[in-house]
Amino acid sequence: MTNSLKLADWQQRATALRFPTGHFIDGDHVPGGTARFTVINPATGTPLCEVAAGGAAEIDRAVASARRSFSSGVWRRMAPRDRLAILSRLAQLIAANGERLALLDSLSMGKPIRDMLNIDVPSATQCFSYFAELSDKIDGAVTATAADAFHYILREPLGVVGCIVPWNYPLLMAAWKVAPALAAGNSVVLKPAEQSPLSALLLAQLFVEAGGPPGVFNVVNGLGNAAGAALALHNDVAKIAFTGSTVIGKQMLVYAGQSNMKRVSLECGGKSPQIFLADLEDLDRAVSYAINGIFGNMGEVCNAGSRLLIDKRIAGEFVARFIEQGRNAYRAGDPLDPQTNLGPLVTAKQRARVLDYIGKGRSEGARLEFGGDAPALPGCYVNPTLFSGVNNRMTIAREEIFGPVAAAIEVDGLEEAVAIANDSIYGLAAAVWTRDLRKAHAAVRDLEAGVIWVNCFDHGDMTQPFGVYKQSGQGRDKCLESLLGYTQTKSAWIHLGPAANPP
Ligand code: ADP
Repeated sequence: MTNSLKLADWQQRATALRFPTGHFIDGDHVPGGTARFTVINPATGTPLCEVAAGGAAEIDRAVASARRSFSSGVWRRMAPRDRLAILSRLAQLIAANGERLALLDSLSMGKPIRDMLNIDVPSATQCFSYFAELSDKIDGAVTATAADAFHYILREPLGVVGCIVPWNYPLLMAAWKVAPALAAGNSVVLKPAEQSPLSALLLAQLFVEAGGPPGVFNVVNGLGNAAGAALALHNDVAKIAFTGSTVIGKQMLVYAGQSNMKRVSLECGGKSPQIFLADLEDLDRAVSYAINGIFGNMGEVCNAGSRLLIDKRIAGEFVARFIEQGRNAYRAGDPLDPQTNLGPLVTAKQRARVLDYIGKGRSEGARLEFGGDAPALPGCYVNPTLFSGVNNRMTIAREEIFGPVAAAIEVDGLEEAVAIANDSIYGLAAAVWTRDLRKAHAAVRDLEAGVIWVNCFDHGDMTQPFGVYKQSGQGRDKCLESLLGYTQTKSAWIHLGPAANPP
């Protein structure tokens, strides 16, 4: 995309960048009231902007706009191929506006600009393309009946879908929810995370520029316990699609029960294990995936490979190579520098939390191999950290840290590795590294996780159901199944004539 730009170019673009800081309702930017919250640039610790803090009133307004657009049929009854064309144009506009989208997320939550350009923006583009193409492939069915009846099943959109997304991939997580919801014909209200509220406003604006009708895609900014809660409790919202912490994910289920029994899909925390068996083919390759699987995106990844379960026959060598390759693989720096691959953590609070976990790792007896501290930079940075000698009862093996902290645990063969892998409340992703096909398939069968990788980590495309077992949530993102989660079936049983055998 624009990878030839240098730090000074990005800094100049950042200074010149102008962006709205309110809501997007009924096809237009709305400045919002006097209640504002401050977004801090975590790379500098200084305020980036003040953003409208919406609450129940703004949510009501946005939901009413979404409901009007849904009831009017302007989107859901549009010819599916026309919806396809608009969403495809939106995908192109995301790519064309990649630089601005990249800056908005990078400045607010600290992600290295190169990751925005190489991962987040292209993945969001692909996501909208994929679901655009599915818009006219949502079929119903006709079932076999006796001659006296005709039975068909329609697949319809749900209505107004509320999307509540986190700050670790602001644009991409919004895309994962909004794209399938729109492709299925729903209207949407998106509540971005308060740490990263800016790219969502541009995304909604691009939808209208692509030809999307006003009111179909709305954005309300605000704090989780105000705007987020109002959306999740709203009686005219048919579904909440949520990605975030397990604690708030559970709260979504409570909100649904307290209001209108809305559907809820949840993608929450993880403590994903990577199992490295003694017969794996290429130790250096496995080690590099272990490093990137936990240090990429500062470890702020729900499926981060935070538990390294290493067979004791190779554990010494594995850890030695991890130290050698991993200690300096990620360099903290200005996220706008295209050379930087380790940005700050999202907030000072998150840095304190991660450092606290590192303290627990030390005090509970894990061996700190490197890192464990913060670099001498003004922002919210934490150095990549490796603990060895971890056991699965330690806090750093049980709780989601959401930072660049790897926990190496020695295991004795596949059976013990799987038992330890499954000894977790979470079940998001897992990986196994082996040359033995039988062991690979056994691991796939026995691991309790929604996504399993064999001899790789974090590979995949839009066809891959991305979702979760156990307390990592419920429902799937990406894939056809996710799209169907934004639909409901309606059975139409038509009596044609006297039954041959009356009941
Ligand atoms: P994190 O701890 O990583 O910030 P959260 O689960 O708190 O993750 O936040 C994920 C999303 O959920 C954000 O958009 C946030 O504003 C929203 N959120 C947080 N608390 C609530 C709540 N009580 N009700 C509704 N939404 C919330």
